[in-house]
Amino acid sequence: MNFLEEKILSDGIVKEGNVLKVDSFLNHQLDIDVIRQIAYELKSRFRDVEVTKVLTIEASGIAIATMMGDIREVPVVFAKKHETVNSTDDKYVSAAYSFTQRRENHVFVSKPYLSRDDRVLIVDDFLADGEAAHALIDIVHQAGAQVVGIGVAIEKASQQGGRRLRDEGYRVESVANIESMDFETQTIRFVESD
Ligand code: 5GP
Repeated sequence: MNFLEEKILSDGIVKEGNVLKVDSFLNHQLDIDVIRQIAYELKSRFRDVEVTKVLTIEASGIAIATMMGDIREVPVVFAKKHETVNSTDDKYVSAAYSFTQRRENHVFVSKPYLSRDDRVLIVDDFLADGEAAHALIDIVHQAGAQVVGIGVAIEKASQQGGRRLRDEGYRVESVANIESMDFETQTIRFVESD
């Protein structure tokens, strides 16, 4: 069992509806040591890949993406969900159904922050149905850029996002991969890694 799986077992809470609550270290309070270890693990998994930009989606992906950008010495871009008075640039826009918010979000990246020669590593906290990842892939493709990999902290193999993305030919790496969770018994099983 790796450091993140141990952390999930000790601090994660299984909620109804196949949701894992990890607010104490990833989604509300940030355990910087854990985030750093996640980023170094993803760096190692993608060590053979040339990356020019890290792309994530607000809000919970930003911490991991920031650390990744620091380690790989590339800029970090996060797709936004909410327009502000400053959102005046032309944008690449896509839509993603949010598993935790139970609604569709439009997400966007301003055009100046992605260009066709970018090699983009997509990073996020969770991979469930793959909605967020597909929206980010769509945005990268609208920019004419290339997705070189998708790295997530926690994948839930019981949902189909990871399988679909791999079937589509994307390289997907997850630091912890949850096979199943049980709300009644608070049991969490992980996919055995090679
Ligand atoms: P997807 O788009 O792959 O269905 O879901 C990924 C997004 O939903 C992530 O960005 C994450 O914020 C959220 N998410 C999905 N499943 C869970 C979960 O079990 N726990 C938490 N905390 N967030 C989740």
